[in-house]
Amino acid sequence: MNFKDYIRVIPDFPQPGIKFKDITPLLNDGPAYKEAIAALKELVKHLEIDVIAGPEARGFVIGAPLALELGVGFVPIRKKGKLPYETIEASYDLEYGNDSLTMHVDAIQPGQRVLIADDLLATGGTIATSVKLVRQLGGTVAGAAFLIELGYLTGRDKLEGIDIVSLLKYE
Ligand code: IMP
Repeated sequence: MNFKDYIRVIPDFPQPGIKFKDITPLLNDGPAYKEAIAALKELVKHLEIDVIAGPEARGFVIGAPLALELGVGFVPIRKKGKLPYETIEASYDLEYGNDSLTMHVDAIQPGQRVLIADDLLATGGTIATSVKLVRQLGGTVAGAAFLIELGYLTGRDKLEGIDIVSLLKYE
C-alpha cells in the first residue's frame, strides 16, 4: 500500500509557507489505518517495549492502536492542566512563548522500556520534551515511532541516541 496516497498536503496551514500533512484521510479509511498500524508494529517489534507513551492529541491515534497490537499499555502525555492526578511537567519553546507537557507521576515504572509514538516528527521539540518526562520517571526510552517524518526539519538531531522509526518520510 502506498500510504502517501492517504496523506493530504495542505499548503499554508496553519501559517503561510507551511505544507501541513493531514493524516485524517488515512484515519478515515479502515483498511489503510489498520495496515499503517500493522506496518509500524513490524518496524518496532524488535525494540522490547513494555509500554507506549504518546503526546496529545494525534499521538493517541497512533500510540493507542499500536499498544493494542503489541499487547502493551498506553500512557497519555498531555498539555498542562488536563491530567487529573499528580503530575510532572516539562516545558518547551514554541515560535512565540512556550508550552508544557505533563505525565502522571506513576505512569511509568522505573526501568520500563517506553516507546514514544506520535503522528509526525517535525522539529522534534514535542518528542524531546516527552523523552525528558519519561526519563524523569525512571523509564528507558526504547525508541520513537512516527507515521511521518519531515526530514527537512531535522527533528532527529534533537533525539540523539534514540532509535527512530517512521513509516513515511518527506524530504
Ligand atoms: P515538533 O515538535 O516540531 O516535532 O512537531 C510535532 C508535533 O506537531 C506533532 O505532535 C504533530 O502532531 C504536529 N505537527 C507539526 N507539523 C505537522 C503537520 O504537517 N501535520 C500534522 N501534524 C503536525
